[in-house]
Amino acid sequence: MLTQYAHAKRIISTAKEIFFPARCFICKRYGDLLCADCQTLFDISRVHRPDRNHKYLADIFAACGYENKYVQKMIRGLKYEPFRKELACPLAELIAGHFKLAEQNFNFREFVIVPVPLAEKRLRWRGFNQADIIARELGRLSDAPVAENCLARVLETKNQADLGQAERLTNIKGAFACANNAPFKNKPVLIVDDVITTGATINECARVLSRAGAAKVIGVAIARTNS
Ligand SMILES: [Zn+2]
Repeated sequence: MLTQYAHAKRIISTAKEIFFPARCFICKRYGDLLCADCQTLFDISRVHRPDRNHKYLADIFAACGYENKYVQKMIRGLKYEPFRKELACPLAELIAGHFKLAEQNFNFREFVIVPVPLAEKRLRWRGFNQADIIARELGRLSDAPVAENCLARVLETKNQADLGQAERLTNIKGAFACANNAPFKNKPVLIVDDVITTGATINECARVLSRAGAAKVIGVAIARTNS
């Protein structure tokens, strides 16, 4: 049954490629989902500025600034209707591109990639967790293991976007729990989210991961806001 389903899915995706070949999300030219010309518009950061301002995070890496309108557009394309899940691939490529430019010697294979879990209500509405699929693509690009379902969202919290910096910290506290620490015990972890604003969410994830035995935790995102 499952193989039949997988088979049907493959036929559909091949048919899609024939009838609807990939077009660049930005300029609509046929070819890649994000063409090389348009990738330059994202202004991938060539420099990494270490961020040690979060108690449980050794550092934070972000590929772009969220004020870039192309980054916003593509992340929205992934997260809002009509969901373009395939955009997770070019978005993860932005992260990989940033590491290539700014941190050539970074060895992804030493790390375990863990996505930030999504609130239940959002997950039901969207049908997928964007951090999961970005993490999966980043794992594929960087050859690092991805451990989904290690963290669980155990508390329904207010939307962080509606809160100020101090409120965000208390709002998110206790929102996550470790469901399975076997994949990352005594290993360094990359905690992955789409956008980092204050860092309160990934810092809280990092707290839980550290308590559960992660050797260290580094935050990774496609984009970061200025605030
Ligand atoms: Zn283009």
